[in-house]
Amino acid sequence: MEEQKRLKVGSYTPETEETEAIIDRDYYRQGGIFKDEEAYLHHPQQVCYVPELSDTVYTRQAFLDLCNGQAEFADECFYAVDWQHPETWVEEQYREDEWGWCDHCEQIYNMSGIPHPCPICGKLPDEGEQDEHTESERSPAEPGGI
Ligand SMILES: [Zn+2]
Repeated sequence: MEEQKRLKVGSYTPETEETEAIIDRDYYRQGGIFKDEEAYLHHPQQVCYVPELSDTVYTRQAFLDLCNGQAEFADECFYAVDWQHPETWVEEQYREDEWGWCDHCEQIYNMSGIPHPCPICGKLPDEGEQDEHTESERSPAEPGGI
């Protein structure tokens, strides 16, 4: 049986008392990064991703934190990033309606590019900021409701 090879791009050597961490990026799809699938899947405390443009390090836990603790979305994010910061990628998913956020369920759900209500509770996604009006439309309390 052939063992499936885990994705590994570059290398990361954690810091020790004497030395700083060493990030050795390699080329992957769009940029130079460090990415380690084995670490992501099996060593949640280890660094599994470093983007191209900063030395910010990410562990599995960091991906989970960005994705509301929802592993399926964290996985999607981990496999998708190829140069950018995971935060940026996650923002894109919301902006492009790939993901929806339900305030009621406090869960991310898949929209696959087409806005639709939360599959759990049926609530429509938050329409978000509508263009330029955000500041002025910060809705004041309705008068009359004591
Ligand atoms: Zn919901």
